[in-house]
Amino acid sequence: MATLFLSDLHLSADTPAFNDRFASLLGEASGRIDALSLLGDLFDAWLGDDDDTPFSSDLQARLAAFTAITPVRVMNGNRDFLIGRRFAARTGVSLLDDPAMVTLYDRRYLLSHGDSLCTDDVAYQRYRAAIRRPARRWLLEHLPLSIRRAIARTLRARSQADKAGKPAAIMDVNATAVASLLAAHPGATLIHGHTHRPGHHYHRVGRDQRERWVLPDWRPGQMGGLWVDAAGPRFSADPLADLVALSSNN
Ligand code: MN
Repeated sequence: MATLFLSDLHLSADTPAFNDRFASLLGEASGRIDALSLLGDLFDAWLGDDDDTPFSSDLQARLAAFTAITPVRVMNGNRDFLIGRRFAARTGVSLLDDPAMVTLYDRRYLLSHGDSLCTDDVAYQRYRAAIRRPARRWLLEHLPLSIRRAIARTLRARSQADKAGKPAAIMDVNATAVASLLAAHPGATLIHGHTHRPGHHYHRVGRDQRERWVLPDWRPGQMGGLWVDAAGPRFSADPLADLVALSSNN
């Protein structure tokens, strides 16, 4: 048995192929993995737990059926930071703080979405701090859904334009930010997503060599994840295929 980590699936009503893939993955994984950990940006945008589009209702129903059998942990990403308690109650997932320390198979892991580590992107960090202030968040959550949809469209367009104008390096994690997070959590291996730069890195922190695993985002032809079991983490290019292979072997 193992725990599957995924992030940055960016699911929406406009991504039917990925939604089907995620549904199939849930179907295969149910009762056959220890837990599913979703480290942010499961959704391309989450406008609040009252979002009642068929896409959102369908996905929540699938998650609820899944969590009746297998635990799911969900961390907020920058796109879906409004996932809250009502979503958790409806789907049966448990919400993770960012960062979160967990012990899996006798090893310590530090989990994060990863956007807080991208400190070179000063404009983004300013926006992140502003939008997550409790008063701002309360206000946002109490706006009519139609207005939130319009805001989300504007933000998405602005984020695309911003990204196009930014050098690639400032959208990756800052090495000093990583080192200080690792230093604050001795002995833990860091797992995060967000940067869309899947990889396995080593960082020297004091006398220790520390590990950082970056989860793959989902895009056409790439729907991977990270398995964690007693042997540690390992990437999978296709967790659904892994599960299907496992069931045909048994
Ligand atoms: Mn993200």
